[in-house]
Amino acid sequence: MPGLEAAEGRMLIDGQLVEAEGGRTYANVNPATEEVIGQVADATVGDMDRAIAAARRAFDETKWSTDLEARSRGMRQLHEALVRHKEDLRPQIIAEAGAPLQLTYAVQQDSCIQDMLWDIECAEKFEWERELGVHEFFGMKSNRRVLHEATGVAGLITPWNFPFMLNLSKLVPALMAGCTAVLKVAPDTPWSGTYLGKLIAEETDLPPGVINVVTSEDPAEVGDLLTGDPRVDLISFTGSTQIGKHIMVRCAPTLKRVFLELGGKSAQIFLDDSNIEQIAGPSGASICIHGGQGCAIPTRMLLPRSKYDEGVARLEEAFRNVAYGDPTDIANSQGPQISAKQRDRVLAYIEKGKQEGARCLVGGGRPSHLEKGYFVEPTLFVDVDPDSTIAQEEIFGPVLAVIPFDDDDDAVRIANNSRYGLSGSVQSGSLERAMNVARRIRTGTLSVNGGMWFAPDSPFGGYKESGLGREHGIEGFREYLQTKTIGYPTTR
Ligand code: NAD
Ligand code: MN
Repeated sequence: MPGLEAAEGRMLIDGQLVEAEGGRTYANVNPATEEVIGQVADATVGDMDRAIAAARRAFDETKWSTDLEARSRGMRQLHEALVRHKEDLRPQIIAEAGAPLQLTYAVQQDSCIQDMLWDIECAEKFEWERELGVHEFFGMKSNRRVLHEATGVAGLITPWNFPFMLNLSKLVPALMAGCTAVLKVAPDTPWSGTYLGKLIAEETDLPPGVINVVTSEDPAEVGDLLTGDPRVDLISFTGSTQIGKHIMVRCAPTLKRVFLELGGKSAQIFLDDSNIEQIAGPSGASICIHGGQGCAIPTRMLLPRSKYDEGVARLEEAFRNVAYGDPTDIANSQGPQISAKQRDRVLAYIEKGKQEGARCLVGGGRPSHLEKGYFVEPTLFVDVDPDSTIAQEEIFGPVLAVIPFDDDDDAVRIANNSRYGLSGSVQSGSLERAMNVARRIRTGTLSVNGGMWFAPDSPFGGYKESGLGREHGIEGFREYLQTKTIGYPTTR
């Protein structure tokens, strides 16, 4: 495939681009064509062990964690390298993740490169130390100083859906905080990590060991080493709720700090005074972006009974017109699912939805006009029971579940009838009414009347089983910091 010459198959360990022990490799597959696009290092436990050791050494034995200037310089060099090479990276992300080209101009690539500057500046301007002043305790006066320090070695584990964005979303704040890191990327999207490793090694002064990038076909073996190892102080994970819980258990014996950004089943609510005629169609069909493979995508739509039929008609029209297929075609907003396994998982949920009595109005299968690739048709389910499987479980496919409601209270109740709590949206003719509903939704982010919450300084994360902690913003930066309080005398 042309345009992929720049891709890197080696890992970054202790400052060196290296093969896996014994030269082990595995195939990177393009989910749109089912073709092998390259071979990448398949790490052994020994490789992961060396990466952890390198990160530990860089943290304990170098000035990295206290040298903010060196961190700024190195990360700004990485930013410049990414700007220089973004046209080398773009085809890699499209080919390995099946990411639509149009999305790479935004959150799959370009906006993350831009947004990393916010994280760099956040650390540069951060109040690392503050004085609390004098406090009297049993007749003795003391000054107190609060210091923020790097937590230590961070294990960063990322998924395949927005691989480059999530690698950067963890790497930049972790390193700017003064942590050192081992990035374990998703098996399906190794290049989004190894290319970062290549640029770090070849075009920055970032010292050996501060960032290590590990790729492996089997995530469990090397992943369990990373999450269980006492040399690692913190795990930052994005992925499924199931693996998130497993990781939390793994982290318990050594009491690691755990940050988890997990699944979602977010609701888009259209109140009865909203512009359903105009907005419901495009808003509903937008869940097909990137094949619905996004944790914050609102894959339940709640429509008022009084305008239900009208909303369903608009949705049907919009779902029939979703542009999907070849991700290299700028017109398509939906590409393939990441793998045959994920496609089959989505198709199984669609079958379950039919069995449980929901009406499948559009799609519901594999597209007949696309011979290769792990595609699923844009799929619209209406009359969905809010307690049924397709209304409760994260499908991670282009599948919308439409649910009717009676009044605002009923909408809030249905929206909150979920073990997840990641995101959602509310539409109303009245901003105040929409805001009142938004306040009652138990999720970490919300869009009101089309407002966009996503930004580098917007904290992002979940309530309930959607996770722990926040990514992005000052809250996200603080996840990588420890707090130390020092008491000292008022007189010298
Ligand atoms: P996953 O949770 O298994 O994988 C996410 C990351 O965790 C990957 O890097 C994977 O290699 C790693 N991992 C897996 N087992 C591990 C272990 N024992 N120790 C350490 N790391 C480990 O997700 P998946 O299987 O790729 O996808 C399954 C479902 O997860 C999807 O259908 C979707 O519902 C959900 N998902 C959610 C997100 C999200 O952004 N919240 C992302 C991807 C997948
Ligand atoms: Mn791939």
